[in-house]
Amino acid sequence: MAILSARPTDDSVARLAADPCCAHAFAWIERNSGWLTEQQIRLTEIPAPELHESRRAEAVKALLSVCGWKPNIDSAGNVVAERPGSDKHDVILFAAHIDTVFPEGTEIKVKRETRRLVGPGISDNGAGLSALIGLAHALHESRVQTEKAIVLAADVGEEGEGNLRGIRRLVDTYGSRLSAVIAVDGPSTDYITTHGIASRRFEISISGPGGHSWSNFGAPNPIAALARGIVRFSDVRVPADPRTSYNFGVVEGGSAVNSIPTRASVKVDLRSEDEAELHRVESALREAMQAGLRDELAFTDHPRDALALSFRSLGTRPAGKLPPDSPLLATIRDVDRFLGNRSRTERSSTDANLPLSLGIPAVALGGGGTGGGAHTLDEWFDPTARELGLKRLLLIAVALAGLRA
Ligand SMILES: [Zn+2]
Repeated sequence: MAILSARPTDDSVARLAADPCCAHAFAWIERNSGWLTEQQIRLTEIPAPELHESRRAEAVKALLSVCGWKPNIDSAGNVVAERPGSDKHDVILFAAHIDTVFPEGTEIKVKRETRRLVGPGISDNGAGLSALIGLAHALHESRVQTEKAIVLAADVGEEGEGNLRGIRRLVDTYGSRLSAVIAVDGPSTDYITTHGIASRRFEISISGPGGHSWSNFGAPNPIAALARGIVRFSDVRVPADPRTSYNFGVVEGGSAVNSIPTRASVKVDLRSEDEAELHRVESALREAMQAGLRDELAFTDHPRDALALSFRSLGTRPAGKLPPDSPLLATIRDVDRFLGNRSRTERSSTDANLPLSLGIPAVALGGGGTGGGAHTLDEWFDPTARELGLKRLLLIAVALAGLRA
């Protein structure tokens, strides 16, 4: 009786993987995954808070230079390296963000706990950045010649208030030449982000006359007005479908315990799978903050102009979606089938949002290994089996760029 074979792997990826170029690249990955993890620790320990990414960018540039790439730093601060193809027009862009959410002064020391590495930014985006370095080395080692150019970028401004300024510059630079963009963000290989969540971020400020806590008691208090607005908005229900979220992330204000503050502010992040819903939530937030201000004025019996409310935009991320029948998605699925990697499509807010919003095929993928606790001081990364993520990126790069005949 014949034994039924497992579902056959996709021929074209199997053929690609059997090419001596890819075999060389795979061998490099197998030999060097420990070295890559060391580079990941080193890069993670160079602070890269938003708008201050240059030291880490220089370190990435040096790591790309030693393996035959000729990286430059563009005017936005992105490290960009290009491997030309026979076709002068088309470009496949891999981008891993350099920046972290951790403010200047955060102590960043990576600790080893058995298999895990623990430290702020070790996964997001230490994992993505080190995978980009691994991809650069493996491509160089492979001596592969491709039809399309492959561009590797370590980009700035993905997190916090960076407002995607790095990927914006890359998309401006390469424009219509971009045939696919792959954001390498975080470690996990079990997802393909095909849907970019829209987001809007604001700093909301309330200012007032201030005064002495005793002699001016009764004057309207910006902190109290802000708190009333926050509580009002927190009663607003947001839908589970389309999934929508909000977060009050930073509160500031006041100068002394015995002074009525002249100013208070809060930073807010709103997200939704749907632009119209995001618009509705933003309106609800504006109304709630206005109402909080009115509540405080009514309570302290002051005229309407005694407090002033302002909204300052900290950034807008457009939504976008990769069509389910996109050749980019089909290629990644073929590679996953070949490698025996199970992955699902997912929604998230990443550098891929921007190209997706412009109709450029884009995804976000993890660079390999596993991790958790992103954006916390206990963030961790486990490099076990990170080779899978690297081989996945390598095969995707070569499959998309096409082997030169
Ligand atoms: Zn990230």
